Amino acid sequence: MLRDRFDRIINYLRISITDRCNLRCRYCIDKDFPFIPHDEILTYEEIIRFVKISAALGVKKVRLTGGEPLSRRNLPHLISQIRDTAGIEDISLTTNGVFLPDRIDELTEAGLTRVNISLDTLKPDRFAYITGFDVFDRVMDGIEKAKHAGLNPVKINTVIIKGFNDDEVLDFARFANAWEVEVRFIEFMPFSQTSLWDASKVITSAALMQIIREVYEIAPYRNAHKGPAAVFTMKGGPGKIGFISPMSSHICKDCNRIRLTSDGKLKPCLFSDQEYDVKRLLRGEASDDEIAHFVAETVRAKPERKFEGGMIKKCQRPMRNIGG
Ligand code: SAM
Repeated sequence: MLRDRFDRIINYLRISITDRCNLRCRYCIDKDFPFIPHDEILTYEEIIRFVKISAALGVKKVRLTGGEPLSRRNLPHLISQIRDTAGIEDISLTTNGVFLPDRIDELTEAGLTRVNISLDTLKPDRFAYITGFDVFDRVMDGIEKAKHAGLNPVKINTVIIKGFNDDEVLDFARFANAWEVEVRFIEFMPFSQTSLWDASKVITSAALMQIIREVYEIAPYRNAHKGPAAVFTMKGGPGKIGFISPMSSHICKDCNRIRLTSDGKLKPCLFSDQEYDVKRLLRGEASDDEIAHFVAETVRAKPERKFEGGMIKKCQRPMRNIGG
């Protein structure tokens, strides 16, 4: 079992399998920021070996993210290999949904258990403005297909940013009910490679909840997949809304995750620039035992809480390298 210095059990691995993305969300990617060279990105074989070693140490859940994971070739192969790894109970995907309509069958056949789809606006024009691509309808189709394929509850990740899309909070609540999905509002975090991030653009979960409470009676929902979201039902409708509050609350004490970046660095904390080069071991002569020892040491280096010292600090890596 992987246990850190603060008695947290680490059983959840998030893997960014590529830093490439088919969208250019204004708050995430600076169009001029260079991609990591292909040969620096972990191969599927390296990722699978790492997952096997981690699973033997107690990791049970894996999430694949990016960049856009569906922009990497032959993803079903990776999913099925991870699914077949002893100890792994759950394999999920975070995607922008654009490629989902064509790929959903092969993903579910490969063993995908859950999907989170990112969507920051319900207005097609605004979608094109935010992402740089006029593909809103494809994402909606992707959501529909994911529901139909039984990947329920389909979760929608929505980052609300002041002056950007904060006029759509109630629309998203209505959408959750109409589409029978779980919309999870995520506070804007200091990752942007772009100049867009600044603390004044963060809207806290408490403020969002207040907007929703003016219209909906909400009640806490027992979250089947325990995680950082506080999830609520809305009286009179089947949808759910969740709030992920990395900026305004101390979610660190329940943190159960480590992250593997697309270029093979292990990150014990999303908000810390601290990272450990496991690719060097995967590509060198290191045995599985040596790598397992390295993972355990990385977990021990996990800071007690984000922004140690109390200051909010912009993180050096873009989200697309780390995996959101
Ligand atoms: N391409 C996939 C997607 O769109 O879901 C996976 C990668 S994307 C980086 C993962 C998530 O990170 C998305 O929901 C995105 O909105 C979120 N994200 C990116 N930058 C963020 C930021 N500065 N604060 C909060 N969330 C952010």
